[in-house]
Amino acid sequence: MADTTTTEPGRDFIRDIVQADVDAGRAQVVVTRFPPEPNGFLHLGHAKSICLNFGVAQEFGGRCHLRFDDTNPVKEEQLFIDAIQRDVEWLGFHWGEHLYHASDYFEQLYRWAEHLIRSGDAYVDDTPPDRMRAQRGTLTEPGQNSPHRYRSVEENLALFQDMRAGKFANGACVLRAKIDMASGNMNLRDPVLYRILHATHPRTGDAWCIYPTYDFAHGQSDAIEGITHSVCTLEFEDHKPLYDWLIARLPVPARPRQYEFARLNMTYTVLSKRILTGLVRDGHVSGWDDPRMPTLAGIRRRGVPATALRDFVARVGVARANSVVDVQMLDAAIRDALNPTAPRRMAVLRPLKLIIDNYPEGRTETLEAIDHPDDPSQGTRPISFGRELYVEQDDFMENPPKKFYRLSPGKEVRLRYGYYVTCQSVEKAPDGTVVALHCTYDPQTRGGNAPPDGRKVQATLHWLAAADAVPAEIRLYSHLFDRPDPGADGDAMAHLATDSMEVLTGAFVEPALAAAPVGTPVQFERVGYFCADPDGTPARPVFNRTVGLRDSFAKVKTPGR
Ligand code: ATP
Ligand code: MG
Repeated sequence: MADTTTTEPGRDFIRDIVQADVDAGRAQVVVTRFPPEPNGFLHLGHAKSICLNFGVAQEFGGRCHLRFDDTNPVKEEQLFIDAIQRDVEWLGFHWGEHLYHASDYFEQLYRWAEHLIRSGDAYVDDTPPDRMRAQRGTLTEPGQNSPHRYRSVEENLALFQDMRAGKFANGACVLRAKIDMASGNMNLRDPVLYRILHATHPRTGDAWCIYPTYDFAHGQSDAIEGITHSVCTLEFEDHKPLYDWLIARLPVPARPRQYEFARLNMTYTVLSKRILTGLVRDGHVSGWDDPRMPTLAGIRRRGVPATALRDFVARVGVARANSVVDVQMLDAAIRDALNPTAPRRMAVLRPLKLIIDNYPEGRTETLEAIDHPDDPSQGTRPISFGRELYVEQDDFMENPPKKFYRLSPGKEVRLRYGYYVTCQSVEKAPDGTVVALHCTYDPQTRGGNAPPDGRKVQATLHWLAAADAVPAEIRLYSHLFDRPDPGADGDAMAHLATDSMEVLTGAFVEPALAAAPVGTPVQFERVGYFCADPDGTPARPVFNRTVGLRDSFAKVKTPGR
């Protein structure tokens, strides 16, 4: 189908459809739903679906249900149910009183399955699974009818009741819809509606040993809840004829309609729960909330505010054409959200001692740093200055190239909010590594102000006073995968980056950051946006890099210039 293009910002083909239904009186109240399967944490793709479903409901004065599609007890866990609710709320949406589970409808679904048996539209098939698969045919060859397709209604009802009663082992038989084994749409070749699973369900416990398939549960759940627009991703397009077939044959209370949009795909990112589950299970990441994970829990721990995600999703838009979004678009949305608000602080990632030889021993003084250059209302904070400071190793070069304006022997620079300092000599360890810079300062430049003679410097550096700098661990993240299309060849795990996390254990931050609340974003001046991680303590805080200061395709490993 062709892409429907709309010009109005904030509009898309789904919203156009909803608007038309509202205008024509086909939908009195717009009801949508977000239907996660609780078998993993929500990821960025789900955020797109959440923003769309909850967003449409909000904009049209309707409601959006949160419905757990909990039809497979083997893979589903309470842990995931709780995480999903937490993440939807964090993203800024709420289902109100409309929290549902497909399992709420198991009894009703069972009765509707019997209804299909009675109308001759479903039958129990005990063909062994591999033979059943062979009989299904292929995309180019029609399938074959099962020999059990023509059982009597009575026999089918009895068998289905025996399935429910637990008389059969897993896989012994299934309930199938009787549609068309020659259909060009594989989903219509007598699809399975119920299978036997002797497993304890997080909500229904051991009440059931047969469970409806996604296809049988989904549309009927939509109908029970009075969903007007059942919005899902394009891979369900081929399921729509089955969705409609079932709705047409069952005495359901409403006739919902399904609409499909393109799923979110991003460069350097995998948005497949199967692969994300593998990353967690096999210990490639520290958990579902590892800051490198594209999960909402990971993104949040990395310090990304929900506003940035909602803005990102809005920028991506909703279309029917599949595409891959550059991960830098997310980074840009994050910077745009953080820049106006994040307080500025100083941190030194890879410290190098700077000693001011003409600054009196034992003296310290208090200077004033501003918290946000564009927002005076954020105020100022005191920072201390002393004879011994830390600067970034990267801000010094002993033998600099021509355009290197920062510290090198003989060079003068400004220390932000501090003084002008000139590097006089270099102190080295026996192995030749530079361990300290000896400098002089100009007392007439207090506060980082230009000296009376109008002398100019070409660089302003961030720094910390050694006396009260707080030791910290800083974690720098980059892409989890080392190629733009990690999933393209079906072997994403082979493209896991080996350097997606760099841990700096010898960093320092200013005292104001020792008690930084977990998750609250700050900008480390000249370095990037960071937030405190729950792994830290006030004596030794841990910070995650949320995003660097600027777009840089290469990994930003050194502070900004
Ligand atoms: P996966 O395919 O990774 O296992 P899923 O689609 O099975 O994910 P569900 O929990 O069933 O995960 O998804 C809930 C909803 O989120 C569905 O409506 C699905 O269409 C939508 N969704 C899942 N992935 C994406 C994505 N990448 N972009 C947009 N929507 C998505
Ligand atoms: Mg799914």
